Amino acid sequence: MPLLRSWVDTANEANCSFPLNNLPYGVFSSGNEKPRCGVAIGDRIFDVTAAEAGGLLSADKEPLFDEPSWNKVMAEGPRAWESLRARLISILGEGSTDQASAAAHLVPLAMTRPHLPFRVAEYTDFYAGRNHATNVGTMLRGPENALPPNWLHIPIGYNGRASSVVVSGTPVRRPWGQLKGPNDAVPRFAPSARFDLELEIGAIVGMPSVHGQPVTVAEADEMIFGYVLLNDWSARDIQAWEYQPLGPFQAKATATTISPWIVTKAALEPFRVSTPQRELALLPYLQEPRPLLYDITLEVGLTPDGGKETIIARTNYAEMYYSAAQQLAHHTTSGCAMNTGDLLGSGTISGATKDSRGSLLELSWGGKEPISIADGSRSFIEDNDTITLRGSAKGKGYMIGFGDCTGRVLPAHSDLYARTDQRSG
Ligand code: CA
Repeated sequence: MPLLRSWVDTANEANCSFPLNNLPYGVFSSGNEKPRCGVAIGDRIFDVTAAEAGGLLSADKEPLFDEPSWNKVMAEGPRAWESLRARLISILGEGSTDQASAAAHLVPLAMTRPHLPFRVAEYTDFYAGRNHATNVGTMLRGPENALPPNWLHIPIGYNGRASSVVVSGTPVRRPWGQLKGPNDAVPRFAPSARFDLELEIGAIVGMPSVHGQPVTVAEADEMIFGYVLLNDWSARDIQAWEYQPLGPFQAKATATTISPWIVTKAALEPFRVSTPQRELALLPYLQEPRPLLYDITLEVGLTPDGGKETIIARTNYAEMYYSAAQQLAHHTTSGCAMNTGDLLGSGTISGATKDSRGSLLELSWGGKEPISIADGSRSFIEDNDTITLRGSAKGKGYMIGFGDCTGRVLPAHSDLYARTDQRSG
């Protein structure tokens, strides 16, 4: 597909993240104004809340943009998604008869603040990257038993906390937790010393499923509204002590940061790629009817306080062993209903090479091999480091960008015990 040209000039530049082909959906505010829905185009945001109120969008229907989230649109389903996208392309495309009225609803992106683009209903995180699972398994159990016996059959996941999902730019406080080293007799309560990032892509459920009715992989793909970059912050030392036998709990509950723009399935359609060759055939309910992954290049930047950014990893979403549609289909096998606004983390995305690993745990091999950065070295995240995930799908003469997914790690509270005592007293 070629570049779709827009009358917003900056959208036609080859290195622009938000050409007319993209049209990602977000929620923004400027100054003291209330958050509202917008669509990124070039270096502007098209204020769809204002455009709808002004009669440019869906005038004959119930308002979709009278709340600061995209959940109403998400619940409408694929036909409505398609017609909204067609309408936006018509309004913002070169030669549009609506240019004069639409231009009044453009806001400079740089003057705005992002908010969560949708109300997160529930959050599930998977463990579906083969290189990541192999690396972590090798560190824990040795190379012979790296992959758990179920791994090539099941997209493994756990239920996370929707309340922990924050938008890019939100600072993340280093957590306290129970820590117990291999030589410690008893655990202690202290700030995590092995705080880490996980490079992931989040899939957002638009259409809900019915309780008691599992969906097929093809139906699951239809239900997905779009994708965001996702950093699943992880306290490795808290996890190591708490995770057996029910899996991660507090180690993964500090925060999960997502990028501000929902990149739609329609924008990503030209970049579909197949999941990798199967070593063992999947059970029929998990088999793919068509290519379900996307060719999205990804990178992770680490910037120390006041220092220079180092790109510590580069990889691609196509490295996943299971797609979001397979994960979603598996999620419903129990009869579990999926709701509008459910968020599925892909699992950490790591490539086969050392510089393509999507977490510091893997990059520094459990802290044994610290990596070099512009201003020193790192085994895990240090206080006031900023982590930025970036992603884009590259077409001919244009790209589909996600917008940065960034977060700065603040020092742990120093007075946690004092505050706890005060509250209980
Ligand atoms: Ca994760």
